[in-house]
This record gives sequence, structure tokens and C-alpha cells, in this order.
Amino acid sequence: MKVIKEISAIQDISDYYRCTGKKVALVPTMGFLHEGHISLIQKSREDNEVTVVSIFVNPTQFGVNEDFNKYPRDFKRDYDICEKERVDYIFNPETMEMYDNSLTNITVSEITDRLEGKFRQGHFTGVATVVMKLINAVKPHSIYLGQKDAQQNAVLKKMVKDLNADVKINICETKREENGLAMSSRNSYLTPEQKADASILYYLLNEGKKLVLENQRKEVNDIISEIGITLKQKQPGIELQYYEITDNENLDSITDLKNFKGEVLISLAAKIGNTRLIDNIVFTK
Ligand code: AMP
Repeated sequence: MKVIKEISAIQDISDYYRCTGKKVALVPTMGFLHEGHISLIQKSREDNEVTVVSIFVNPTQFGVNEDFNKYPRDFKRDYDICEKERVDYIFNPETMEMYDNSLTNITVSEITDRLEGKFRQGHFTGVATVVMKLINAVKPHSIYLGQKDAQQNAVLKKMVKDLNADVKINICETKREENGLAMSSRNSYLTPEQKADASILYYLLNEGKKLVLENQRKEVNDIISEIGITLKQKQPGIELQYYEITDNENLDSITDLKNFKGEVLISLAAKIGNTRLIDNIVFTK
């Protein structure tokens, strides 16, 4: 396994494999790897000859009051995980390598106004721009993303389609702790008690799914209010920033729930102490 710091070097490496007919894949990450990232790496290795894991804590996707400075970082640990998982290359550029007097941004509209977009202004422009830059650096045939970041996936799918990017997007299921908490690098901010309390989030997603599938309620807001009451009863200390029931493509709120057919996405963001967590569940109705 090699660590590559320069864009031109990873481009040359990718060109070499591509012209010898090998499939190149990218797993974009911000490091502090966990089982969720590992599952993407494993899927990528199953499907492709060459797996590149990018490790880059992208400053442009963090708001001014967000956790860029304290975001967990441990390159040595990430290196060992990647080596054990038989990753071929780690692409680990410095910020200056990625953004040297950069004046260009990619903004996907509409999808980015809702859910996370209401709480994290400019976040998805940062994400879309960095992922497009990573795609142009690594030139992968495919990229592997986790269902954990459902809105990010919708934004990136739209970007790839709208910009004719020649890359296939694979979405892998969310890996969870035994209590249902979605794995996340940010879980390292939680105390053991907070981690235990946070299991309510997956419970609320499943409760919402049950209520949607019962098909007794016409309005999504009826379900959302019930969920709010359940949270107040079981974990009043947790603040739900949003809990929304949408379609899984444009992330529009579902207006006629009874008659809706297709993929339903239930997404939430919650604050436990100072830590903000997101999670979602997707299913067919
Ligand atoms: P991050 O390092 O948090 O930017 O995540 C990098 C990639 O890993 C993204 O595509 C995430 O959706 C994915 N990912 C994060 N957490 C999980 C998880 N618990 N299960 C599966 N994929 C995940």
C-alpha cells in the first residue's frame, strides 16, 4: 500500500491501471475510520482490482462554528486499518494541494435546501466540490458511499448526472453498533451514557417506518408529532433538529402519504449534549 499526497501522482497511477484494463475505485473519507468505512472498502475490493481510499478532512464543508478543528484525526490508525484491509493506495492530500487559490465551486440546488441544508449552510457545496475534485484526481470507475449520508448521496448522484461525470456510484448499507447507533467518526465525542441514550434515534426511525407502513395516517406530520412525543417520553434530553419523511430521490416531503408508492426516506438530526448526529432509514412503500 502506498500513500500518495499529490494529485498529479494519483492521476498517473490511475491512468496506468485504466489503460491496462483494471477497474479503479475510490472510497472517499475524512478518516478516523470505523466499521462503516471498512464495509465500503471491502465492497470496493470485491468489485475492483484497485481500491483508493482518500483521507481528507475537507475544510470547506464545515461551517464557521462547526467542528473542523476538533474533528478526530489519527492517520497512523487509519493507515493500519487500510493496510489490514489490503487497500492499494491512500490518497491523503494537504489542504493546499486541494485548494490552491481555488475559485470554483459546485452547487447543486433544491436538494441542498432541505434537511441538513437548513442547518448547515454551504455544507453541500463543500461536499460536492471536494468529491468532484477527488473524482478528477483519482479518476475512478466507481465510488463507494454509505447510506448513512442519504442527502449527500442524493446530491452527489445529481451532480454526477448533471455534469456527465463518468463514474458509477455505489451505496452501501449503514453499519450500526449493537444498540442500533449508526457508526460515525463523531461518535468518539459521546460519553458511554450518551452512546447508550443515542440508541433511541434508530428506534425512532423504525417506529416511523412502522407507522408509514401501517398506512393509517394521511399526513406525515401526524407521524412526526407522534415521534416527537415518544422522544420526549423516552429521552427528553435529546434535541431533535429535524425528523422528515421524504421521497428518496429529490427529498421532497411526501404530501399524500396514503397513496405514495416508492422509496421512502426517513431522516433525522439530533443533538446529544454538544454532539450533532444524523441517521436515516430507507424502505419501499
Ligand atoms: P466520512 O468519513 O464520515 O466523510 O464518511 C465517508 C464515507 O463513509 C461516506 O460515504 C459515509 O456515508 C460512509 N459512512 C460513514 N458512516 C457509515 C456507516 N455507519 N455505515 C456505512 N457507511 C458509512
